[in-house]
Amino acid sequence: MCGIVGFAGKRPAAPFLLDGLSKLEYRGYDSAGIAVFCDKIRTVKSQGRLADLRAKVDTVSHLDGTLGIGHTRWATHGAPNDINSHPHTSMSGRVSIVHNGIIENYIPLKQELEAAGVVFRSETDTEVVAQLFDYYYEGDMIDTLIRVIGRIRGSYALGILCSDHPDQLVAVRKDSPLIIGLGEGENYIASDIPAVLEHTRDYYLLEDNEIAILKADSVELLDLNKNPVHHDVYTVTYDISAAEKGGYEYFMMKEIMEQPRAMRTCIGSRLTENGEVKLDKIRLTEEQIRNIGRIHIVACGSAWHAGIVAKYVIEEMTRIPVEVDLASEFRYRRPILSRNDLCITISQSGETADTLAALREARANDVHVLSIVNAVGSSIARESDDVLYTMAGPEIAVATTKGYSTQLAVIYLIALKFAAIRKTLKPARIQELTQALINLPDQIEALTKMDQRLREMATENADKNDVFIIGRGIDYGASMESSLKLKEISYVHSEAYAAGELKHGTISLIEDGSLVIAVATQDALYEKLVSNVKEIKARGAHVIAIVKEGCTDVEEVADEVIYIPSTDDLYTSSLTVIPMQLFAYYVAIARGCDVDKPRNLAKSVTVE
Ligand code: GLU
Repeated sequence: MCGIVGFAGKRPAAPFLLDGLSKLEYRGYDSAGIAVFCDKIRTVKSQGRLADLRAKVDTVSHLDGTLGIGHTRWATHGAPNDINSHPHTSMSGRVSIVHNGIIENYIPLKQELEAAGVVFRSETDTEVVAQLFDYYYEGDMIDTLIRVIGRIRGSYALGILCSDHPDQLVAVRKDSPLIIGLGEGENYIASDIPAVLEHTRDYYLLEDNEIAILKADSVELLDLNKNPVHHDVYTVTYDISAAEKGGYEYFMMKEIMEQPRAMRTCIGSRLTENGEVKLDKIRLTEEQIRNIGRIHIVACGSAWHAGIVAKYVIEEMTRIPVEVDLASEFRYRRPILSRNDLCITISQSGETADTLAALREARANDVHVLSIVNAVGSSIARESDDVLYTMAGPEIAVATTKGYSTQLAVIYLIALKFAAIRKTLKPARIQELTQALINLPDQIEALTKMDQRLREMATENADKNDVFIIGRGIDYGASMESSLKLKEISYVHSEAYAAGELKHGTISLIEDGSLVIAVATQDALYEKLVSNVKEIKARGAHVIAIVKEGCTDVEEVADEVIYIPSTDDLYTSSLTVIPMQLFAYYVAIARGCDVDKPRNLAKSVTVE
C-alpha cells in the first residue's frame, strides 16, 4: 500500500528512484527495492529503511541503466523481508514488477501457474503478476498486460519492465493511486506527487485500467482495447509538504477521505465472487468456531471502541457472548478464561504495549488469539494465532479514522463468517447483511461530501466547553468513538452517555446552551431517543441529531439534523462516525489545534 516510482530517461535511473522513494517515506514502509535495466534487469532490495537499500545499492557496480522501477513496501501478503520486497522478477528473469495494492485472486492463479511448472520465490500476491506476465508474454508487452488484467482481481498500481524492451516502462492502475510525471527528455511514474516534484510539476492521472507506455521522449496512454486515450495535463500548484498530504492541510483529513477506498480494499478482498466471506488463511477451524463459548475482545482507545460496537454486532449475529476489556485492565484482573474461548485483540499499529501484554496473558491460558491489526509483521501480528489485517494503508495522523473504520469492517466480516458457520442467521439474512456491507464504502464516500456543512456546524459550535454525545445500543458504542475524536484533537471536554442513563445523574449537567449530539439510528430505539432529546431540549440544550435518512420527524425536536444513508442497523456505526470525524476536525481547526499531532499523544503507544 505504499509507494512506487519509475523512470524512463537518458541519465542513470537509480538516483531518481532512490530519491523518489525517499519522498514517499512519509507514507511509512517496511522494505524497499529498485530494478534497473542495464545489460539485463538488475534488482537490489532490502528489508528496513531506505538507508539500508542505499547502502546495498552502493555496493553494486554498473547500476547505471536509464530505465528503472522502485518500490517501498507496506506488506499485506507475506512478512516484510528481503525476498518478499519488490520488485519481483519472473522465473526467467525477463520481467520485473512493482505493485501497490492487493491481488485478491492470487491463490488460484498461483496454483494454476505452479501446475504449469512455474516456481515461486516469495509469499506475496504480487509475484503472481510477474510470473503470469512472463507466462503469457509472446513479444508484445501491451497485449500481455491486457491478458494479465483480464485475469487479476483486486487493486493495483503496476510498473513493469521487460528485458526485451530496454527502452520502455509500462504502467497501469486500478483502485490504487498512480500518476505519470512528464519531464524534459525523461518521464516518471509515481504513486504520489512528492516523488516527482523536484523534476516536474506536470502530470497525467490515469483512470482505472488505462495503460501508460513511458519512453524517454514520449508517453502513450491506451485503453484496454489499445485505443489511444487523451488526458489533460495537470500542473501541481502546491509545495512538497502539502503534496505529501494530497493537497489537504492535515493528514487526518486525507485519511478521512481515504476511508471509502480503504473499506473497499478491506471488504473486497474477503468476499468471494458469490458473496461468501473468506477470512484469509486463519487457523481457527470451523469446528473451533462452532464450539466457541465466549469471546473476549481486548483493546485500547479507538480500537476498544470498535470492540464495543463489535459486542453488539457479534452477539446479535452469532449469539456468542462477548466481553470487551480495556487491555490495561484485562492484563491485571485475572480474567476468567477457558479453552473454548476466543480472544480478539484489536490494534492499528500492532505494537500497543497493553494489548500485547493482554494477548500474551490469553495465550498463556491456552486461549486462541485472533488479532485485527493494520501494520503487517508487527509484534501483535507475529505473536497471535491468527491475524486479519485491516489493509487501511499507513495511518499517519495520531487520531485514527481509516484505522477504526476498517477495524469495524473486519468485525462485520468475522461476525458474518461465524454466523454462517454456526447457522445463527438464515442464508437470506446473511445475504442481506453482505449486500449492506458491500454498499458501505459508497455510503461513506457520500458522507465525506458533507464536508462543508460540517465545517459550518463545527465553526458555530467551536466555543463550547462541554459536549455530550448520547445514543442507545450500538449508537452508544459509536458515540464513545465520536467523543474521543473531539477530545483528542480539539481538547473540548466531551462525554458519551447511554441515553437511558441521562436521567440517573448526568442530566443535571445540561444547562442553557449545552451542546448535545444525539445519535439515533436504531429503529427499535429511535422513539426512546427522541424522548430523551425532548428532555434535554426542555433544559435548554442545543441539539444536533444524527439519524437515518427518512427519519424527518426528529427535525421537530432537534435544532439541526444530520442524515446518514440507510443501512442495516448493525452497521450504522460505520456511517455515524464520518460526520463526527469531520465535526471534530473542524472544531480543532477553529480552535487553532495541531490536528495531526495533538498534545501529549503518540500514534503508537508502546509503553505501559
Ligand atoms: N500486496 C503487495 C505485498 O504485500 C503490495 C503491498 C504494497 O502495496 O506495498 O507485497
